[in-house]
Amino acid sequence: MTLEGDDLACVDHALGHPDEWFDTEVEHAYQREFAAWNGSEYALAFAQGRVALSASIYALGLQPGDEVIVPGYTCIAVPNAFRYAGITVRYCDIELDTFGPDIASVLPLATPRTKAILVHHLYGIVCRDFDRLLEFSRQRGIRVIEDCAHTTGATYRGRRVGNWGDVAFYSSEQSKVFCTFNGGIAATNDAALGARLAEFQKRLPYPDPPRTRLLLRNVRISYDQNRHPHRWFLDEWMRYRHRHESILSTTQEELRGMRPAHYFQRLAPPLAALGRNQLRKVDRFNEQRRATAARWRQFCAAKGYRVPLQVDGSTPVYLRYPVLVPKARKFDGPWAIREFGVQPGHWFVGEHHPVSAPIPGCPHARYAVEHCLNLPTLL
Ligand SMILES: *Cc1c(COP(=O)(O)O)cnc(C)c1O
Repeated sequence: MTLEGDDLACVDHALGHPDEWFDTEVEHAYQREFAAWNGSEYALAFAQGRVALSASIYALGLQPGDEVIVPGYTCIAVPNAFRYAGITVRYCDIELDTFGPDIASVLPLATPRTKAILVHHLYGIVCRDFDRLLEFSRQRGIRVIEDCAHTTGATYRGRRVGNWGDVAFYSSEQSKVFCTFNGGIAATNDAALGARLAEFQKRLPYPDPPRTRLLLRNVRISYDQNRHPHRWFLDEWMRYRHRHESILSTTQEELRGMRPAHYFQRLAPPLAALGRNQLRKVDRFNEQRRATAARWRQFCAAKGYRVPLQVDGSTPVYLRYPVLVPKARKFDGPWAIREFGVQPGHWFVGEHHPVSAPIPGCPHARYAVEHCLNLPTLL
């Protein structure tokens, strides 16, 4: 994760100035700066990436009874956002080169009711079938939502991902490309969609002061657990000490498909201030990630692992470096340390991460759930 000392200084400033917690100018500045950096006309901030997806669903005017095609290898927050809006989800399979939607699996799912497709770029890698998915959607009048939760800053043919479909969302949750602890952005280049996103955002409240304080406290807790020089022995203690105040990005309710009370909220302005600070550094982090990924590529290829495909014309950001290992090894921690010299990540541990639900017609998704580890790229 990407928090550093100057980010903590932002948070400490905010904790000491509750009078600034509803300063909307900082939110507007963050949105303007993200839009400029991302090369998008419109960017609107929300409490989480999933809320930005809900805003995108609203902006596109999707209605109950409409169908969307979603990869059957995703985060539970994604199907939930469609479920909350009453939209029917049909799952396509992924391919195992980049873990993106497989065009061959998408084609037979389209019906006259299909109004949108969610195209994701996982692990920071631009998806393999991107061109064909865009082309297919254009021909059929299907709208494209880009899930860039892992891929903020990646480019395709010189343009950042998220600018190729109709609307895109990004996440600044603590494990993603940049960090506001929790946070999300919806972006578009279409004036009508931009206006609808803004209309949706306007109706949402900001987190109230107790929740804002809790969110800010959680930035610190997250730093102490993930970045602190003494985290190796502080971690257990921190978990214990903060057990009553730590916020989970996905609640127990959400795992059961229910919407938590605090779901429909804007980004707290002090987190927008943190986002502005993070944005100034995200290109540097992404450079580091690419350099580490180049080393993982060599390392993994030399050991005979299948390495992810870098699509022609793309510059991935490699949030994590995915590698397919034998099934019996996926959760074999001691083996992974011996094999890779680091503690790997396990997501996705289910088709609807972290919820496991084998989906008919999605054998590659199952395969990835059982075989895919991910290696850190910010060391
Ligand atoms: C994390 C994630 C999301 C949701 O982002 P939040 O900011 O946590 O709501 C959506 N899609 C994918 C693929 C993700 O990994």
